[in-house]
Amino acid sequence: MSLRSRLTTAFLVVVLGPVLVGAVFVAAIMSHLADSRGEAAADSAVTVVDSTLGTICERIQASAAAVALNHGSGGRDGGADMAELLVDRAVVDGIAFTGIDDAAGHATSVGDPAPEGAWADCGAEAIRAGARPVVALGAQAEVRNDDGSTAAFTAFRVVDQAFLASLADAADASLVLDDGRFEPLEARGADPAVWARTDAFLPLRIGTVSTDVTPMYWTLAAMVAASGVLAVALASWLARSTTRPLAELSGAAQRISEGDLDVRVQVQGGDEFAQLADNFNRMTAQTQSYVQALTTSRDQMRGQLGWLGQTLTATLDLDRILEVILDTAMVTTSAEAGLVMLADVADTDRLGQRAAEGALGIDEPASVRLGEGVIGGIAASGAPAHGRIVDGRLGPWRRVATEPDARTIVAVPFSSRQTPEPEHPGARRGGASEDEAGRGQHCVLGVLVLYNRVADLDFEDGDVETLKTFAGQVAVAVENVLLHRRAQRLSLTDPLTGLWNYRFMQTSLRREAERVRRYRRSSALLAIDLDRFKIVNDTYGHPIGDQVLVELARRITGQIREVDLAFRHGGEEFMVLLPETDASGATAVAERLARALASRPFKVGGLELSVTVSVGIAVLGEHADTAADVLAAADEALYAAKAAGRDTWRVAAT
Ligand code: GH3
Ligand code: MG
Ligand code: MG
Repeated sequence: MSLRSRLTTAFLVVVLGPVLVGAVFVAAIMSHLADSRGEAAADSAVTVVDSTLGTICERIQASAAAVALNHGSGGRDGGADMAELLVDRAVVDGIAFTGIDDAAGHATSVGDPAPEGAWADCGAEAIRAGARPVVALGAQAEVRNDDGSTAAFTAFRVVDQAFLASLADAADASLVLDDGRFEPLEARGADPAVWARTDAFLPLRIGTVSTDVTPMYWTLAAMVAASGVLAVALASWLARSTTRPLAELSGAAQRISEGDLDVRVQVQGGDEFAQLADNFNRMTAQTQSYVQALTTSRDQMRGQLGWLGQTLTATLDLDRILEVILDTAMVTTSAEAGLVMLADVADTDRLGQRAAEGALGIDEPASVRLGEGVIGGIAASGAPAHGRIVDGRLGPWRRVATEPDARTIVAVPFSSRQTPEPEHPGARRGGASEDEAGRGQHCVLGVLVLYNRVADLDFEDGDVETLKTFAGQVAVAVENVLLHRRAQRLSLTDPLTGLWNYRFMQTSLRREAERVRRYRRSSALLAIDLDRFKIVNDTYGHPIGDQVLVELARRITGQIREVDLAFRHGGEEFMVLLPETDASGATAVAERLARALASRPFKVGGLELSVTVSVGIAVLGEHADTAADVLAAADEALYAAKAAGRDTWRVAAT
């Protein structure tokens, strides 16, 4: 059942119920009033009939008395004259004389002949109904004659249809004489509703027509029907006007649920519905602005992630990658500033700033030792942390001057799951567990730190989860770069000695030859070959020979500058490129190397071996201009040194 029908029904019950009860009550009162009015009418009809009959009787008695009084006086027969007058005037119907001397010629009656049958005597008790038919009303007066006899005069009115009709007219009622001689007399042509009885003079039943209340009933029914129609109309209007705003709101809510946030409902008037509609509109507007903000931020995030993805796939430039990841992390968490701290390559216990964004409030790049300050503490703990920095403290950690000062912070350390490479000695063991550290599986690579969430909001657990993703990306990027470097290094170095390989030598020589030619400089190339190495191999075996090669490589690198490059040319022959060096500089290096070899024997596999080398020297810009030529010249000089008896050096011929 809908709300509208419920409201309509409730209204109808409330309004129509009392109307119907009232109508029934009014109808009952009307019927009661009609009944009592009928009884009152009957009573008054009886009174009228009784008093009319009383008056008639008085007149009859008076007539009889008057005739008796006039009898014998007035010459002839005064009584008869009086009687005639009275009959003429219709006071009585007739008067009969008895006890008069007939011989004197007096009349014995005047008017109608006295009817045969029972009379009602006006002066006496009424004749009982049904005892005898009452044919007249009469009264008698007596007078003593001159002769001493008694004369009687009986005046009467005939009780006939006309008499009764006149009575009925006077009382405005129906009359029935109980002896059944006449047809009942109906008043006003309607059936009497109330009957009354009188026995005062005649046995009469008197019927009165009660008031007809039927039209009033109809009127009442019409009024009830009209108020019913009015109530239904009013109820449906009320229900409709009550439910219309609700239906409008419901429709609007439906459209919102389908995604249309532009919908608004009309606010009319100032009632509760108007307030509801107003609040609904405001709520929708608020939701719309939230959705817009979310959409904007989602689009921004999409763009940022797209950019991040592109950067990650398109470059191996670690700084660029870290910058983009930091940027994305800041946008995502609404941070005002941020840092990527990486474990230092050289100083194994230090975290250094590798990427930074926003105002950090420090002049120098951030730098902390592991376990020092807030960043170092979080890094050493190995677990993410976030919170508000109060009086320079965050939890157990106290800020140091070399890290940013901020209101709020969220920091996520990231680690490598790979075995640390010697090329990345800064890779630290992290995590609280010694056991874990002992396995060497979990190494802190660095920390991703964000500061000061906008509007002075605090960072939340959700931000930590987000940052974990980005920190993971940073870790992967760092590891990728390290891996790349390692692969690059492997492709250019000799696995046995760790010196640059033949391929890199070719590249370096070409580049150096070009540089020397362009700037008119000189660079020396040393070709170094072990003397009688075959014997070492043959005597002690190949593995011992390998160890001799490794030791020789170490002694060569120990004798050259940082800018110099040492290569393994192949087998037991090495090359050393000395930029910005002429022949005399190169011979000095050759001499130094010879001394370094001679100073102490090679300790390999429990043996002590004396090792010497022969060195051929050629100078770019002096003996040759190209990589191939300088190689050939150095080799030729080496051959010359061998020929000269070994453990010596020769400079290429000009
Ligand atoms: P010399 O140069 O003084 O004329 O005599 P040599 O005995 O050194 O003669 P040569 O230079 O011709 O010999 C090269 C030897 O070096 C041959 C080979 O057994 C050895 N050799 C080359 N490469 C390696 C290597 O990678 N490991 C070892 N153990 N031996 C190598
Ligand atoms: Mg050789
Ligand atoms: Mg040799």
